[in-house]
Amino acid sequence: MIGKHWKYLQYVLRHKWYVFVECRKLGLPLWVGLLHDWSKFLPDEWIPYANYFYGSEVGISRGRDETGYYKPGESGDDAFDLAWLKHQHRNPHHWQYWVLIQDDEDTRVLPMPDRYRKEMLADWRGAGRAQGSKISTKEWYLKHRDKMILHPDTRHWIESQLGAVSLLLWLVRGKWPAEDEEGKE
Ligand SMILES: [Zn+2]
Repeated sequence: MIGKHWKYLQYVLRHKWYVFVECRKLGLPLWVGLLHDWSKFLPDEWIPYANYFYGSEVGISRGRDETGYYKPGESGDDAFDLAWLKHQHRNPHHWQYWVLIQDDEDTRVLPMPDRYRKEMLADWRGAGRAQGSKISTKEWYLKHRDKMILHPDTRHWIESQLGAVSLLLWLVRGKWPAEDEEGKE
């Protein structure tokens, strides 16, 4: 019983450590790295996460594809899905936080303030290291790029940080990524 909580605690602390290091590299203040993912310690996130990842033998890769990304709609665990939703709503470093679902108009996407987009990048880099991912953050981003709803400003910033994303996409698709964005504006 205590085993899964212990294993999950070790995972969360390892994740926090790597994200902390990446936050510092991006010049974020100490407290940003220290507070990162604080809400994971609330019972309504902690318990469903510990059950989901360490309640069985699968471990932290459960419900993720080979790159560590959560597979949409495949968790099969309603308690986990609710905890993940709460986590997104409590933590502005998740891009989902900035997606505004409007009552009867189209979804709007707000730009992420610099502090949060930096923390998001640190989170991606740190998560990759904590999970022992074999691929780079850029490769990871490119695989999932089309599923992420980002404001064009946020997307440009992220892609300039990751480097050569535009060039790669241009080689593959024959157009610059910014051109994709224009139709959505
Ligand atoms: Zn988070």
